[in-house]
Amino acid sequence: MKHYEVIDGQQRLSAIFDFMFNEGLTKNSEFGLKQIPNSTIKIHEKLLTKSTKSKKKGVAYIDMSSDDQERFDNYKIRVREVYEENDDKIEDLFRRLNTNVYENNRQELRNATYTGDMKDLARILTKKFQNFLLLNKIVTQKNCWRQLDTDKVVNEILLVATQDQIVSSSNDIKDDLYANGETMGLIKNKIQKDVEEAQEFLESLFPPDGEGRRFIGTVFSKHAHGYLPLLTTIYLMITGNWIDDNGNRIRYNINKTNKKKIRERLDDFGVNTHRKLRNEKTNVKERKYVLKYKKAVEYGRTTNASPRVKKCKIIHEILEKYMPVMDIRTKCKSGDREWLYKEWQRREGESAGKKGKVMCQAKNCINPKGKEIRSLAEMDCGHIKMQKLGYGRGGDERKNLRPEHFGCNRSANQVR
Ligand SMILES: [Zn+2]
Repeated sequence: MKHYEVIDGQQRLSAIFDFMFNEGLTKNSEFGLKQIPNSTIKIHEKLLTKSTKSKKKGVAYIDMSSDDQERFDNYKIRVREVYEENDDKIEDLFRRLNTNVYENNRQELRNATYTGDMKDLARILTKKFQNFLLLNKIVTQKNCWRQLDTDKVVNEILLVATQDQIVSSSNDIKDDLYANGETMGLIKNKIQKDVEEAQEFLESLFPPDGEGRRFIGTVFSKHAHGYLPLLTTIYLMITGNWIDDNGNRIRYNINKTNKKKIRERLDDFGVNTHRKLRNEKTNVKERKYVLKYKKAVEYGRTTNASPRVKKCKIIHEILEKYMPVMDIRTKCKSGDREWLYKEWQRREGESAGKKGKVMCQAKNCINPKGKEIRSLAEMDCGHIKMQKLGYGRGGDERKNLRPEHFGCNRSANQVR
């Protein structure tokens, strides 16, 4: 059997099918034939209304006589087939066909408005993710043509990556992401590598079926309710930015992860949550998490930070059982930060740079403008000795602290 993709006319086709297979009436009791004033198609009067008890309605397919049904079935529709393998050319054709139908959406505007690193990074990641997103039906082909894959998925993970935490999102926030990201320096490559690594790890948890799909039939095929929370959680856990209830940042070891166990648990959780959200019968095994997750989904808008945090916490709870901790960075008290900043301003000598300057001590400082930390707001507390689980309280002493840029602190001490 041949397969076609619809470039143009999707709505017209679904209207016809909805009419024929009666789907329209289940969605909308008013569904039926209507005469559109300027249309070249004239609908026979007897098809336009039928009387019901309460009011007149357009005639549905099942209301038609079998002769009329046959005429309807045999009506020939003009179709043009396009043989083209090049996605860019198809996209171009789609755009030209739809030029007068659509206004530019926000992502299309962003792409036309901004230049620079963030736009470039979003393009690279979109290319990298697209096939996966399409196969798993997280986005549609039409979404991709209109750059909604970038908007719905890539922008969201970039917001997390640039702030190292779960954040709210809106069109304005995403505009800022592009406006502030014109020059990113080395952090661009770091984010790209980290996001790709998180995605690769995620994919490695779900074995593909014959066609390369990984989680059809689980909650993870829903972008806001499943896939994004999973990707976000993994991203934060493997980059050392998972924040626990005490404000400490924890990094998990993907090399010592029990993937087999996680695969079983996530699969079970994913399938049952999917069913629960559709009010279908669920298996009792993951009951606790499934119920909690359903609550989180119903808790609030998917673009707000707090429902996002709730979802990620549940996924984290499942993952952390099988992913050992690699290191913990304890939260730096604000008193310690101020002390450290002043302490370094007083220092002299090679390591301190010129007198009065606070210099970032991260081995691979990512600041393109140099190692100087110009204000307290730019500075985070790094650690001279790496803090490991069981390292003890000593790791938190002031003498173990060193100044680092916020951005450098996140990448410091990373041994892979
Ligand atoms: Zn730095």
